[in-house]
Amino acid sequence: MGGPVETFINALAKYSWRTVFGIFVATGIILLFPRQLDVVNWARSNHGYIVIAFILSGAIELTHLLTTIHTLLRKRSERRVDLRMVPGSSIHSTWSVSVEPLSKKPMMILICRMNFAHYESFSLIIKNAYLRGTRATFPLADIVVEGSCDDSTSLCIGVLPIKAKPGKELVGRLVFVDQFNDRHATERITFRPNTLSADWFAARLQTSPNCAFCDKPVTLEEQAQEAQMTAHISCIWR
Ligand SMILES: [Zn+2]
Repeated sequence: MGGPVETFINALAKYSWRTVFGIFVATGIILLFPRQLDVVNWARSNHGYIVIAFILSGAIELTHLLTTIHTLLRKRSERRVDLRMVPGSSIHSTWSVSVEPLSKKPMMILICRMNFAHYESFSLIIKNAYLRGTRATFPLADIVVEGSCDDSTSLCIGVLPIKAKPGKELVGRLVFVDQFNDRHATERITFRPNTLSADWFAARLQTSPNCAFCDKPVTLEEQAQEAQMTAHISCIWR
């Protein structure tokens, strides 16, 4: 047996990925640059062995790489906290429209109750929350989930864009981001429009007749029923 094959089989027996990688690189260089290395004759007489060593070492390295990636991914998913989430009664799950403090544009407010639990021995801290397909407009106060017996939490989340349509229920999943930046999505939650009564708006329009967004007068028919302030339907849903 030739030198390269013997070396190769020894490397296989030890199964050191560094040695195999060395063989892969060396055989590759010999195949590509025999002239520069002044081994043209030797490379020609051993060509078959060199090609086999190159392909096999390459295949072993690829297997090693894929196994490593697979192990890393599995470890990552095992480390992720298994956060359980049970939404509170849908009677208390509502959406409405408010004013985004910085841009003074309309934003959607989601209100609901959630029960959180997990089996870890440390506390999970929820740093951010949003409806899937939207982004949070103001920071959430940290929600600390101690473990398996926490009280339910009432949530108030401001998001953009306004995915709900006037007078219609909104169905979507809330996503909670923990201190490890892992995301946990709830089951589908139905949010009812939080409509205020016509009487309430009639009284409101007496004292505050102008739209919060365009500053023009609003009639009772033009008033958005889900808005927490005087606002045209057309100024919220352009
Ligand atoms: Zn307006």
